[in-house]
Amino acid sequence: MNNILKIENLKKIYHTPSQETLAVEDFSFELKPGEFVAIVGPSGCGKSTILSILCGLEKKSSGNIIMDNNIKLGYMLQNDSLFEWRNILNNCLIGLEINKTLNDDNKKYVLDLLKKYGLYDFKDSYPNNLSGGMRQRVALIRTLATKPDILLLDEPFSALDYQTRLSVSDDVYQILKNENKSAIIVTHDLAEAISMADRIIVLTKRPSTIKNIYEIKLTDKSTPIKNRRTKEFSYYYDKIWKDIDFYA
Ligand code: ADP
Ligand code: MG
Repeated sequence: MNNILKIENLKKIYHTPSQETLAVEDFSFELKPGEFVAIVGPSGCGKSTILSILCGLEKKSSGNIIMDNNIKLGYMLQNDSLFEWRNILNNCLIGLEINKTLNDDNKKYVLDLLKKYGLYDFKDSYPNNLSGGMRQRVALIRTLATKPDILLLDEPFSALDYQTRLSVSDDVYQILKNENKSAIIVTHDLAEAISMADRIIVLTKRPSTIKNIYEIKLTDKSTPIKNRRTKEFSYYYDKIWKDIDFYA
């Protein structure tokens, strides 16, 4: 199979006692193995809705989501949502506990990830002793613990200050590439999207449909921070910026 995920004509209407909201009108796309896709669009256009449907937190109204049975999804939110009363290791093990798949092998995998990404010495610490960037790495390792094939990242860096945000997006990018994952990242930060993604999907304002899809081709593509300095970066930035209906 060429794609690990295919979405066809996804539509979502939220029903509340007082109103119906058409959040996503029509969204179709295919994700290739190892690919990083960014979804950008104005606030409230339905980006989080798409990810929530993919990971089963919300039900779609219509459309198809086609995925092999053995493909696993992992979801990481804007807020790292670490449990303050659990130490770092136990935070990372929680997904495995919930799935009832915690065993020595899985635990070793988590410990290895903590080692590899500079958090092993903090495994017995509590989240409030860690910096925002470290917490976000812990949140990523917790997501990786269940060995997902596709990572869904919803504004994963927006709670961080600018400097931390740059370095954590570099870290997260490297980790996901090293671990050979595919990812869909939702962000309203266009520079972040261009620096990380292979493809960018621009959504219209709500009810969202796809306005445009950009293949991001950077000469000397490397890490997100370095990618920001490539000669094509501002070309894409200007072009995509004009496409987003920020104030519409
Ligand atoms: P984005 O992530 O692009 O900012 P969302 O997907 O969160 O947008 O929201 C899209 C639209 O759907 C918004 O108008 C929002 O108010 C509405 N919406 C989101 N979640 C719910 C919900 N659980 N119930 C009702 N309406 C919702
Ligand atoms: Mg959102």
